[in-house]
Amino acid sequence: MTASPVPYSDSADLTHFIGGRRVPATSGRTQAVYNPATGAVARQLQLGSVADVETAVAAAQAAFPAWADAPPLRRARVMFKFLELLNQHRDRLAAMITAEHGKVFTDAQGEVSRGIDVVEFACGVPQLLKGDYTEQVSTGIDNWTMRQPLGVVAGITPFNFPFMVPMWMAPLAIATGNAFILKPSERDPSPSLLVGELWREAGLPDGIFNVVQGDKQVVDALVQHPDVKALSFVGSTPIAQSLYEAGARHGKRVQALGGAKNHMVVMPDADLDQAVDALIGAAYGSAGERCMAISVAVLVGEVGDRLVPRLAERARQLKIRNGMDLAAEMGPIVTREARDRIETAIARGVEEGATLMVDGRGHQVDGHPEGFFTGGTLFDHVQPHMRLYKEEIFGPVLACVRVRDFAEALALVNDHEFGNGVACFTSDGNVAREFARRVQVGMVGINVPIPVPMAWQGFGGWKKSLFGDMHAYGEEGVRFYTKQKSVMQRWPASIGKGAEFTMPTSS
Ligand code: NAD
Repeated sequence: MTASPVPYSDSADLTHFIGGRRVPATSGRTQAVYNPATGAVARQLQLGSVADVETAVAAAQAAFPAWADAPPLRRARVMFKFLELLNQHRDRLAAMITAEHGKVFTDAQGEVSRGIDVVEFACGVPQLLKGDYTEQVSTGIDNWTMRQPLGVVAGITPFNFPFMVPMWMAPLAIATGNAFILKPSERDPSPSLLVGELWREAGLPDGIFNVVQGDKQVVDALVQHPDVKALSFVGSTPIAQSLYEAGARHGKRVQALGGAKNHMVVMPDADLDQAVDALIGAAYGSAGERCMAISVAVLVGEVGDRLVPRLAERARQLKIRNGMDLAAEMGPIVTREARDRIETAIARGVEEGATLMVDGRGHQVDGHPEGFFTGGTLFDHVQPHMRLYKEEIFGPVLACVRVRDFAEALALVNDHEFGNGVACFTSDGNVAREFARRVQVGMVGINVPIPVPMAWQGFGGWKKSLFGDMHAYGEEGVRFYTKQKSVMQRWPASIGKGAEFTMPTSS
């Protein structure tokens, strides 16, 4: 456990970071950034305009050619320095995350670690950019491939991982030679500015990492800008889908990661202690505001009768507090509106006829009367036709669905429109194997509730959880931020056959 973390309390306005320095927005529009635990306005965010996007793209475009030309090893050295600085500022970043997102401090520390993992991966960029080479594809001719950067690329990120998700994008985009523009969430934009300063301190040339704060206006300007060659988006499904379509219309490469409704199947032979711990942590950790949170427990056969009472007992005992309290297990919801939306979804679940086992609505935390808190909520006997089952709630609400057997459990998961993460708890190796093979979901955990792949594996869901062909980070990330060039060479000694009019073959 960390000793007394230092809270983040800076109240200065939050600006852009363009060309290596903080730059005020020109729109004159601002938006309040809250501390969700106290419910108080903590600072103001200056929202960007179309002109600010122009300024950032111009700065990035100007810096791009020299950075693209820098040897990958030199770029890797900047990554190593950036990595060192991030390690020095781990707890400062975590405190910023807790102050604006609300998640508990130790969870925020975990987020910082998982973001740093990708920077470590990006340090290996010389190896990652090695191409293929075939000698003698035809007599006297060699052929090889190389991967080159795209140019100016942008990332648009959600509130729930204000450090980690930008780190899914920027380190690989930059290590592979691109210039990057980040449009962070308006809810918790502070970590992105510290990240900008650490990149500069690491020796990254000005203009290669930029932050433009803002909302839809800024996103639309990035999508439409002809000099932005690729967009990485992480957020809710409707916006992911519309961004994917708009990006395609503007000729951009797009990867757009969307929402989720992750299931955890519990077989009757599962270790119940493990299953209860896993469900409680995965459903209520970070107040359910994780795209890999478990929001549906699929209880097979008689396991539901044994499991639900234990889940209810644990959900009632959750320690819900200000995230800076090191004893807290769950913090507040990010905004008052999100908390109200979650509580409305609970009321609708009751109207739909699901059995409300634990009702988190109206939860009060001592000393924080205005905080955006809600308690852990548990439903049993949820039916697949209910909105409670179908829609993403993105809060601490766990819906238990009872099914007869494994086949029914698998069909339920596969019929859902989302396919981000899924888990199966069992002690039967064959069931586990069949589940992993047959399930229509991008990331699968066997006795692992939140199977977020490591930095070198790549992250991505299926179905309405991801639009685009390539997953985030890992080797897929390297491919996303580069284009392949194939070079074929022949030197004079082999020339002299005259013009060839037939398709060249390997003869
Ligand atoms: P969101 O979709 O509201 O916002 C994401 C980003 O899009 C933000 O930067 C926001 O400013 C911008 N945005 C919002 N409205 C826009 C609009 N109309 N046009 C253009 N841009 C717009 O998502 P959120 O509430 O910040 O984050 C929660 C969502 O993100 C959940 O649905 C969650 O499942 C999803 N998420 C998915 C993953 C994943 O890897 N699949 C990871 C984290 C979060």
